[in-house]
Amino acid sequence: MKKIPIGISSCLLGETVRFDGGHKRDSYIVGTLAEYFDFQPFCPEVAIGLGIPRPTLHLVRSEQAIRCVGIKQPDNDVTDRLRNYAGQLKPSLVDLCGYILKKDSPSCGMERVKVFAGAQPKREGVGIYADEMMRNHPLLPVEEEGRLGDAGLRENFIQRVYVLYRWKQMLAEGLTPHKLTTFHARHKLIIMSHADYRDMGQLLAGVTKENLVLVAEQYITQLMAVLKTVVKRPSHVNVLQHIQGYLKKELDADDKAELCEVFERYRSGEIPLIVPITLLKHHFRKCPDAYIEDSYYMSPYPQELRLINQL
Ligand code: SF4
Repeated sequence: MKKIPIGISSCLLGETVRFDGGHKRDSYIVGTLAEYFDFQPFCPEVAIGLGIPRPTLHLVRSEQAIRCVGIKQPDNDVTDRLRNYAGQLKPSLVDLCGYILKKDSPSCGMERVKVFAGAQPKREGVGIYADEMMRNHPLLPVEEEGRLGDAGLRENFIQRVYVLYRWKQMLAEGLTPHKLTTFHARHKLIIMSHADYRDMGQLLAGVTKENLVLVAEQYITQLMAVLKTVVKRPSHVNVLQHIQGYLKKELDADDKAELCEVFERYRSGEIPLIVPITLLKHHFRKCPDAYIEDSYYMSPYPQELRLINQL
């Protein structure tokens, strides 16, 4: 499979672009994710000509807005230059399927960046470049390297990356009403783990060649928003039970009891999601079902990423 294009703060790849000439190489990103993602690095502070090393910046609250200025040179306001750089980059980021940002940075931070207004800074800011980039690309899955240490957030981000990648592949091959409804059918169980999939199904009910582009835009906007919710165990159990329903004629009483027990042990946190999914896959290998085989729920991304082993 082709590697998926992902934007990233350069310093996370080990590039020595930080204000002090250092980097923030992240071993999970460079060691594991780089096997699947084609990282495209961007350092906005270097790109606007601030140099390496450079004086440090921070966010300050002025009367109208949050600005990015030098800590020692408050007159050095780089806010507009960072926003303009994000604007210039906009066309070259349209193929990306995700973006990993450096946490806490006044340029790259996705959330909770320190904003200085009085004696005590508040963690209420967004890096200026990150803010503009996310505004320009509202569908793009975005995450910070620090939050990727959390199993639920990590899985959620990578899940969204793969969904958007499949969406872009479908668009590249040429969109038709049939392809759109097939895309929905194959993602229905994933959507079901996040929300009521029937709402999105209704959106597609009236799709025609004439309204295809509009409906597709509404669909992907809704889908990427719905997928932002991190799925809780009870929601996965609902989906697992739903999947088991496709085996109701094939399983004997012992098999059903075993699945039921495994689902409950997963619900209580005793075992990870990989266990009930492996057991279901085992049954579907013996009793294949076309709908379940096509669904991405049990194989949403390469299993070597080992994401559901930790959920
Ligand atoms: S956090 Fe962003 S601006 Fe700072 S060094 Fe890393 S890539 Fe450059």
